[in-house]
Amino acid sequence: MALNRKRKININGKDIEYVFKRTKMSKSVKLAVYQDGHFVVSAPKWYPIYVINKFIEEKSQWIFDKVKDVDFDLLDRKKADEIAGYKKYVKLARVVVASRLEFFNRHYGFAYNRVAIKNQKTCWGSCSQNANLNFNYKIINLPEELRDYVIVHELCHLRELNHSRDFWNLMAQTVPNHRELRKRLKSIK
Ligand SMILES: [Zn+2]
Repeated sequence: MALNRKRKININGKDIEYVFKRTKMSKSVKLAVYQDGHFVVSAPKWYPIYVINKFIEEKSQWIFDKVKDVDFDLLDRKKADEIAGYKKYVKLARVVVASRLEFFNRHYGFAYNRVAIKNQKTCWGSCSQNANLNFNYKIINLPEELRDYVIVHELCHLRELNHSRDFWNLMAQTVPNHRELRKRLKSIK
């Protein structure tokens, strides 16, 4: 079990929050700064805290340079919006996805297990090896044909877990213009 703790340091007058992790696996102190500005320090369980603090202190200018332009308030607001959006749209998304899945699956007749509506960051949908389908709640805000593209795409992954020619042929049976739609969908992100 890893212990995650939020800590704060003040570098050049700016309060910077970070996640501190104690992990079994790591052999030394590690520092990672992600694109959204949050940073993570992970250290072995047995590492004394003063060694870790010293390490962070030595890297403080580097950390500061990485996060100095990050607007944390804006990020917090975005996160709150995201959660509010999910709460607002999840029910509707569930209904719409279920009905479009059923509609297209009248053609395909594939078996699937669970359908989940998630608050994902990066993708519109996914299909697991256990035939579970996941969709991003934001799919509800897509134009209808793009939404259907995502739904059929994941549906077809139940048969073909890759993007082979067979996969695209399968999709083309109900979405003949999938190529164009794929391009449009990519341009949205
Ligand atoms: Zn795919």
